[in-house]
This record gives sequence, structure tokens and C-alpha cells, in this order.
Amino acid sequence: MISLTRRLTLTYVLFISLALVVLTFMVNQITRQIFTGLIKQNIAEKNNDIVRVISEQYNPNSDSFDSAAIEAIGMYFIHEGYILTISDERGDCIWDARSHNMRECMEVVESIAARMEGEFRVSGSFQRQQYPIRRAGQLVGNLSVETYGPFFYSETETLFLSSVNRLFLIAGLAFVLLSVIISMLLSRAIAHPILKAEEAARQIAAAHSSGNGNRQNLKIRLSDRYKTKELAGLSRSINELARELEEGDRRQKQLVSDIAHELRTPLTYLQGSIEAILDGVWVMDRKHLASCHEEIMRIIRLVQDINTLTNLEWEHINLDKTEFDLAELLRITAEQFKAAAYKKGVAITLNLIPSPIKADYDRLKQVFINLLSNAIQYTDQGSVAITIEPSSKSRRISITDTGSGIAPEDLPRIFERMYRADKSRSRSTGGAGIGLAIAAAIISAHGGTISAESGAGGSVFRVFLP
Ligand code: ADP
Repeated sequence: MISLTRRLTLTYVLFISLALVVLTFMVNQITRQIFTGLIKQNIAEKNNDIVRVISEQYNPNSDSFDSAAIEAIGMYFIHEGYILTISDERGDCIWDARSHNMRECMEVVESIAARMEGEFRVSGSFQRQQYPIRRAGQLVGNLSVETYGPFFYSETETLFLSSVNRLFLIAGLAFVLLSVIISMLLSRAIAHPILKAEEAARQIAAAHSSGNGNRQNLKIRLSDRYKTKELAGLSRSINELARELEEGDRRQKQLVSDIAHELRTPLTYLQGSIEAILDGVWVMDRKHLASCHEEIMRIIRLVQDINTLTNLEWEHINLDKTEFDLAELLRITAEQFKAAAYKKGVAITLNLIPSPIKADYDRLKQVFINLLSNAIQYTDQGSVAITIEPSSKSRRISITDTGSGIAPEDLPRIFERMYRADKSRSRSTGGAGIGLAIAAAIISAHGGTISAESGAGGSVFRVFLP
């Protein structure tokens, strides 16, 4: 497979070269056309000049041409590529370049033909043009001018054209070289961030799939300070991906260590109790068995909670939505906690209004069970109030207690898995810090939000269901 840099470079170079060839061809054609027009005009003017100069050599007094001057003019023009023949008005030859200097004429003719056909690809032949020579309006002779037709370039013009062509060639080569360099730089500028992103994605994937090895690579972050929008976006997406994976990795590690920690306490207790019974320190009576049973139940509850949370967080939650009255659900749930609240001397007050809703009844019940059990658990005196706030479109429920409250530094984290605000207290209350995480997952599956506020006078948990 061809690399991106090479492909971009080749495309740019090909495109620029093609544009250059087309441009050069067009410029060349146009220049040549203009130049040829000028040359043809120049030849015609020169022919007229020759006629004028020859006519000036006529002497009316002697009714003859100055033969020495005619010869000088004729010889001069042979070198310019003009083969002259001058005759008088009766047609008798006065001077003929060919018969005068045959060898030189042939040399000039051959060199012009070779130059025009070889160098300029203009195939033609020597053509003769006749001009009458007049003096004071009277015909005094005839001039025949033989030149290479349709047109020809003089030595100076040939030299000029060759240098122009050479200049074109050098400029073209320099331009192609420059375009190759620019193409390479441009391709590298585009391909470099893509290659870096590819490399980073590969390292991140390898880090994610490896057990412990290159976990450090999840910390890879790419620079997103590119001027191209798409490249900056690509880097940002890779960074976002790495951040998400790193966060997932961190949470996974945290969960495993939290679970191990939660299991260690009851298991240690069970181990100690069983060893005490085996050693005969304890008798296997109802009291000791009951406390062992309680620890086992704690482990079972923990495993069930973790299972519920994992299902909620990792699998798509299939909500079994039915229509029911939210007030009725809250009333039934509160009823379940009446005895526990009464035991603690805590009052439960209900401020409910009929609120029909379409939601998953059992899962919402789980949410309010978790919230209410916390409210009663962490309240030693006072009351717990369950309120449905009036709202036509959404459902807003608040559960307010007059309990111990939550410290401001814990408040933002209480919805995290296995986060307990008060570690020492949890042993007696028995919570593993999963209840609120379960509640949050269920509410979010319903498209709602859950939040908490707390102060010295207690806590308020607000549930918003759209
Ligand atoms: P737990 O099973 O430990 O109660 P949760 O996820 O339900 O776990 O709650 C997480 C933590 O939030 C609790 O350990 C507790 O410290 C704090 N918390 C929850 N509800 C209340 C409340 N009503 N009053 C005071 N603290 C609370």
C-alpha cells in the first residue's frame, strides 16, 4: 500500500507538472504566433526598403544604375538571406546574386533551409517576389527578391528565440523542482498529524488490551494546535478517546479494589468466628451463628448490588415502561419504611399530588427505596419529607431529611460507585456505597437527572423525570 505522504506528493507534482506543460505550450504557441506575425511584417518591410534603396541608385542623367552600389547592396543582402536579381525596364539583367556569387548564395540558402526545417520545424522553400523599380513615377527596372517562405528567422532572431526557449526550459525545470519541494513539505504537513494520530491510536489500543504492561500509554495526548480544522478535530477525538479509556481504566481498578475491600471485612469476621468455634473458644450457639449469618447476608447483598449496578451500567437497560401514578408509588414505598422510621423516632411526611407518569415501575421503586433507606439511615431525629413539586410537563420529586448531612467535599462524589462519605460509619449502617450509583443509573436511563444538596440541617435529594 502506498504511503499518504508519497501519494499526496505524487498527486501534487503530477498536477503541477501537467499545469506547467499546458501553460508552457499555450504561452509558446501564442508567443510564436505573435513573433511569426512580426517577422512576416518585418520581411515585407525589408523588401520595400530594398526596392527603395535600389531605386535610389538609378541615375536619370545617364539612364543607368550605379553598378558598384548595386553590387554592394546585393552582396550585403545575400548575408541577410535575400537573393536579389535586378534588371532594367527592358528586362536585361543588371545584377544577379546567383550568377555573381553562386557559392555564397547556395551556402546562405542551405543554411537558412536547414535552420528553419531542423530547428523550427518550418518546412518551406525559396520563393521569388517581383517588384517594379520606379523613379519619379517612371518604371526604370525590375527587382526580384528570393527569400525562404512562408517566413524565415535571421541569425539574430534565431539567437533570440533560442535564448527565450532556453530560459523557458530553465524556468520550467526550476518550477518543477520547487513544486516537488513544496509538495513534499505540504504532504508532510498534512500526513504528519494523521500518522501521529494513527500511532497514538495503535498505542492506546495496545495499552487498553494489555493487562498491566503499557497502561501508561493511556496517558498519551496529541497536540491539537493545528491550523487545519479537521486535523485539530482528529487529535482532539483521539485525546478524548484516550481520556475516556483512562477514566474507564481508573474506575475499573477502583471498583476491583473497592470490592476486595468490602469483601475482606465480613470474610475476616467469618474466618475469625469459625476459627474461634473450631478452637473451642466459642460455642456454636444461636447468637454466634446469627452473627455469621448476618455477615454472609452482607456479602450476598453486596454481590447482588454489584451485579445490579454492572447490568445497569454496562448493558443496555431495557425499561419496562407502564403508566402509573407516581404519588401512589411513593406512598407504597414510604409505607415500607414506616416501621424502621418509627423505631428511630423519625417521622415520614408526604406532600404528594396525583402525577401520572410512563416509566419502569419496579426500577423507579428501587430508586426511591435507596433514597428513603439512606434518608432514614442517616437521620437520627426529626423527619423525612417526600414531596412531588407541582409541574405540568415534568416530574420533580424531592426527599428531604433532617439528618447528619453530607460534607461539601463528599457531595460531588456520592453518586460514584462504592463511594461512602463516612467510611467509619458505614460498618454499622452496612452500606457499600452502591445505592446512589444504582439510583443515578436508573434515572439517567429514564432521561432524567438526580442531584443532592446538603447542609448542617440535613440533605435534599432531587429527582427530575422528563
Ligand atoms: P450506602 O449504601 O453506603 O448508603 P449510597 O450510595 O446509598 O451508599 O450512599 C453513598 C454515601 O452517601 C453514603 O455512604 C453516605 O455517606 C452518603 N449519603 C447518602 N444519602 C445520605 C443522606 N440522606 N444523608 C447523609 N448522607 C447520605
